[in-house]
Amino acid sequence: MAVELDKQDSWIKDRIKIEEIVKYQDKGKDFIPEEEIVSKLELNLKKEPDSLKIKDILSKSLSIQTLTPDETAALLNVKDKKLLEEMKRTALEVKKKVYDNRIVTFAPLYLNNLCVNNCVYCGFRRDNKNIKRKILSLEEVKKEIEVLAGGIGHKRLIVVYGEAPETGIEYIRKTIETIYEVKVKTKKGWGQIRRVNVNAPSLSIEELKILHKAGIGTYQVFQETYHHNTYARVHPEGTIKNNYQWRLYCMHRAFEAGIDDVGIGVLFGLYDWKFEVMGLLYHAREMERMFNVGPHTVSFPRLEPAFHAPFTQNSGYKVCDEDFKRLITVIRLAIPYTGMIITARENARMRREAILLGCTQTDASTRIGIGAYSERYDEQEEKRQQFLLGDTRSIDEVIREFAQMGYITSFCTAGYRCGRTGECIMELLKTGKEGKFCKLNAVLTFREWLDDFAGEETKAIAEKILNKEIEEIKQNIPDIFPTFIGYYERIKQGERDLYF
Ligand code: SAM
Ligand code: SF4
Repeated sequence: MAVELDKQDSWIKDRIKIEEIVKYQDKGKDFIPEEEIVSKLELNLKKEPDSLKIKDILSKSLSIQTLTPDETAALLNVKDKKLLEEMKRTALEVKKKVYDNRIVTFAPLYLNNLCVNNCVYCGFRRDNKNIKRKILSLEEVKKEIEVLAGGIGHKRLIVVYGEAPETGIEYIRKTIETIYEVKVKTKKGWGQIRRVNVNAPSLSIEELKILHKAGIGTYQVFQETYHHNTYARVHPEGTIKNNYQWRLYCMHRAFEAGIDDVGIGVLFGLYDWKFEVMGLLYHAREMERMFNVGPHTVSFPRLEPAFHAPFTQNSGYKVCDEDFKRLITVIRLAIPYTGMIITARENARMRREAILLGCTQTDASTRIGIGAYSERYDEQEEKRQQFLLGDTRSIDEVIREFAQMGYITSFCTAGYRCGRTGECIMELLKTGKEGKFCKLNAVLTFREWLDDFAGEETKAIAEKILNKEIEEIKQNIPDIFPTFIGYYERIKQGERDLYF
């Protein structure tokens, strides 16, 4: 499985294309001005921001405009309890305005855990000799998809890769193509993965063009930390990932390669959380400035314990629950149009609370051991996983809980297949128009999932939500209603994948 060491070294040496970094920089500088960020945070820390100013900022969020760094720094430093409550209420209102009462669900699929990097917080790091290494073959990928699409009912995946010559762009391309090919018979119809989002290493323009051609949804890369010195400390020298700029500019390269749907993120717990929220904001604003399109999603994983990664227990910047809720609220308000992903790293209680602060996407029935879906083992096994999960509930339980909270779970994958990406989706999100398509597609895909996969109790609770949604469509979009209800009836008869 492993390639010879000198071949590996030369592969590592050629990975970073300096010219694909400097071309985007302004006089050799990147777009994360650390001193400016620190001074903005300190200024607001010294003086509690006044409530009128905060209310103005909140109304700007409500009109779905990206906040400025000063406005974001002010929100990060609010201490007044009443104002904090108002911020949380507004965050949920912003979410409802853009995404209504929908929660999009997906599953992560880890394809391999080989990695030439040595990130101190990750169980897959090169020097961890205790972990079982594995690369899924295409046959094994098929087996995973048969369970994900045919047994659980997922339609969207985020596929996750380490960085190694054995699992370079050709492996990534072939696995994605294999995933799209699998079609499985279900109780009333058939199941298939219709959208593959990718969480992969930072890639070159040439490689990103290959990803684009393979028909991916979102290309996701987390900066981990925007703080330069911390970045250098947690990504040891001599590794590819040690290069902050190569990682920072990978979204610029993605756009150049034709991928206009990208996700950014921070691994919270590596450095001061307020600084990191500012980093995310600067990144989003840079993308808006350069491409007129901000990040489609923002992720904010918290550092979790990982096997033989002692750093995860004593990083010095662990984020407590209160601060975590605070940072979710501020991200929602600062980048109001973006999708926000809360994962099963968090426990069920925190995931519930995060949804009420404006998160829009979450995973369910999650297994992150390599090959874990088809082997159907339920226990977490730290030797096979990147880190340990906080919530291993089944999709049926998660969806039932959302339905009880008044949320409809969407498996919609229509957006990118209808060309609603990039500038087009930004416009639709900011004006609340994307919600119209999403509502229709959410109902249609939820109907599919209920008929094929739901337990009786979940079905009974979810039907009430569906009936309410259908009534709303009838009232609010009467011109489309006849086509919609035609699709809905056909899906009940076993047809699949009808969308707007
Ligand atoms: N290898 C690729 C990379 O580093 O970008 C992609 C996959 S990596 C497996 C996905 C993400 O998991 C990382 O970007 C990091 O934010 C997160 N992660 C790594 N170790 C973690 C830990 N101990 N707890 C929580 N999240 C972690
Ligand atoms: Fe490799 Fe990614 Fe883990 Fe770093 S975070 S060791 S790059 S898998």
